[in-house]
Amino acid sequence: MCDKFFDFAGKKVAIDVNKLTYTKAFLSERTQFQGDIPSLKPPIPGSEGCHGTEKVLRRGFVCADCGCCNRRLFWNRWFCENRGFTLDATMQPYPDHVLEEEAAKFDGLMSRRRRQNAVNRGSAVSDLVEEAESAGDTTDRSISDKQMTEDSEVDESDIDEDDSDMAGAGQSKKNTNGTLESTVRESPSEVALDNGEVDLLATRLNRKVIRLMQNLSFGRYTARQYFLPDIDGNIIGSLTLFTSNPQINAMANGPNDLYRQLELLDIGLRRNPAAIVGHKLEGLTRHFQQNFGARYKFGVSVQSKGFDEAPEVILRALHRLRWAGQSAVKATTQMLTGRDCGPNAPPTETKDFNELLALGFMEDDRINYHDDGEKELGPTVAALSLGSPSVMRFRPKIKSGLGEFVAKRSNGKFFMDVLEVPMKHGDMMVMHGPAIQQLYEYAVEPMGGRRFSLTCRHIDPEKMASDEDRQDAAVKGAIPEYSHSFAYNGDI
Ligand SMILES: [Zn+2]
Ligand SMILES: [Zn+2]
Repeated sequence: MCDKFFDFAGKKVAIDVNKLTYTKAFLSERTQFQGDIPSLKPPIPGSEGCHGTEKVLRRGFVCADCGCCNRRLFWNRWFCENRGFTLDATMQPYPDHVLEEEAAKFDGLMSRRRRQNAVNRGSAVSDLVEEAESAGDTTDRSISDKQMTEDSEVDESDIDEDDSDMAGAGQSKKNTNGTLESTVRESPSEVALDNGEVDLLATRLNRKVIRLMQNLSFGRYTARQYFLPDIDGNIIGSLTLFTSNPQINAMANGPNDLYRQLELLDIGLRRNPAAIVGHKLEGLTRHFQQNFGARYKFGVSVQSKGFDEAPEVILRALHRLRWAGQSAVKATTQMLTGRDCGPNAPPTETKDFNELLALGFMEDDRINYHDDGEKELGPTVAALSLGSPSVMRFRPKIKSGLGEFVAKRSNGKFFMDVLEVPMKHGDMMVMHGPAIQQLYEYAVEPMGGRRFSLTCRHIDPEKMASDEDRQDAAVKGAIPEYSHSFAYNGDI
């Protein structure tokens, strides 16, 4: 012991350390804690001020029964993976005024994007903006996003470096240099366009890559169709965006009704293992899924119900998407008639959809760049978007060899997006042409708190691995006779 220890303000006290004892009063001293004793176990995230899809409700919870930490597995309930404790997580209807606020904010953001990305200007200006954006792309969200991903979630496919620039889109003027900003205006007449056409939908459009496009109308929908090329300029497929409107949305069994049913009905939505399956570090899909019809088992294995077990809301969406798919493919074929598109030409007809994948997205749930290129999948994919808005972005894969026409991102690993389009409540998207999946990839970025996407495909039984799978697909993928009364014609 230090010999200064018992030296009190210069007065040295002679103490024999070996004879020191504790007094009873010291040993018995207790002071009662005043106030509520807080529990170390956090309560299950409450619904106060929440509607059910907020980020705080998606992260996970501590089981009230066993006290263990759990992931949020199901859309409509809390479920403990230890001992099966279950508690309903009731969804409140997402308020109309919140949806309206989201839509208004989204429209503002999209029109800024259109100006910044010079959608209706000559390609020279677009390129300058792209370069400036890419040079000023210092907000490295790929890192922060991954760090914030608390339970090593992954998206539908491989984790890509997320090079989203949406977050800063509102203020990205700081990134571009001042002169550009003042020259870029959304007035198409000022500069001659490479290929004439004014685009009123896209928020980014690389006109060197996408040179063929058209406006269409189907029923009460207006639609915009873009044709995607390969390196030789041959058209390999089309992307058709059906833009809905308040009139369509409000029709009986239209998008408003479908949304309101889906958000409350338990259709089985859950997150599925997507990475290091079975390991304690297993990662789940970011969004919640339920498959109907033929089984979808690519990458992530999704639980499936036959169409005969599907609720009416799913079958109504299916018939809407059948109509959209057929309409878009017909228009594609008409446009390409007489044009030699080479070996990767899109098929002139579509195959009937036998599968529908329902996805539920809570706040901030995104789908990173991926393709749907599995060999069993037919040439056409159609998707209906319900609820909160989102942005869909397309870029060529590096292997497309399109470097002459599109710049790379500043990291050099990916191309810039060549097309970016808004997807709002009631909108539909049809992608047609299998080679698109080989040469392009796409991402969907959410811009609100609650969204559903219903996606239809044709899964080719002939390419399935076993007779059992083929049998299963034929039974589950058969569209029930009674549902043909839901056939959709564009609300005309
Ligand atoms: Zn438990
Ligand atoms: Zn996909």
